[in-house]
Amino acid sequence: MSGVWAGAAAPGWLTAGLAGAAFAGAAWAVRGRSSQVFGPSLWRGNPLQPRVALTFDDGPSPATERILDLLQEFSARATFFQIGQAALGSPALARRVSAEGHEIGNHTLSHAALYAKTPAGVYGEVSGAQRVLQEIHGGAPRWFRAPYGCRWFGLRDALRDHGLTGVMWSCLGLDWKRPARAVAARVIAHAGNGSIICLHDGRAGQPGADCRVTVEALRLILPALRQRQLELVTLSEVFR
Ligand SMILES: [Zn+2]
Repeated sequence: MSGVWAGAAAPGWLTAGLAGAAFAGAAWAVRGRSSQVFGPSLWRGNPLQPRVALTFDDGPSPATERILDLLQEFSARATFFQIGQAALGSPALARRVSAEGHEIGNHTLSHAALYAKTPAGVYGEVSGAQRVLQEIHGGAPRWFRAPYGCRWFGLRDALRDHGLTGVMWSCLGLDWKRPARAVAARVIAHAGNGSIICLHDGRAGQPGADCRVTVEALRLILPALRQRQLELVTLSEVFR
């Protein structure tokens, strides 16, 4: 046995450092936007095309209607990561999203934190949402986004069996905690060729969620991106 600390306890700073590194590595595996540890995952689109993908998580909710109206006004397409139970609760509203040409993604059945689930529980969250969304929209989603961006054991099998690819983001809008002007400024500053922007048309499935910030931010974001001649497209198009 060789090594500097063979036969002796490693110094406290070293064990703490290693534990810290292991924790940082595990945290990256779970939440890192380019991590493939729990299945295939994308976080940006084609950098050669002036196209941006706006994505909205956690809907449908009453805010979805106002967001759809705004997108229509600007001839913009987007992708909505719907929660299975929220879509079941408002199937007509959920369906309006796909009927207007937007893409639908899977955001689990109940917006569960996957790291609190067993592998079978993770699998059930994905397969349950996939079944509900396929029934409502008449087609199966291709994209999956994990609640809170946290992937976990069981996800790789669930993605493979349902033909899903994980999608993270190049810019988080932080629309659940910042004022509308700050959200808009952040998104406009980060938007460029192939960007994937994460916003919300619900709040983790809470009924009556207040998404006014997202709607107000969108009123600023849409004209600004149009002025920069960035086309607003679905995820399928931004990866092309
Ligand atoms: Zn979410």
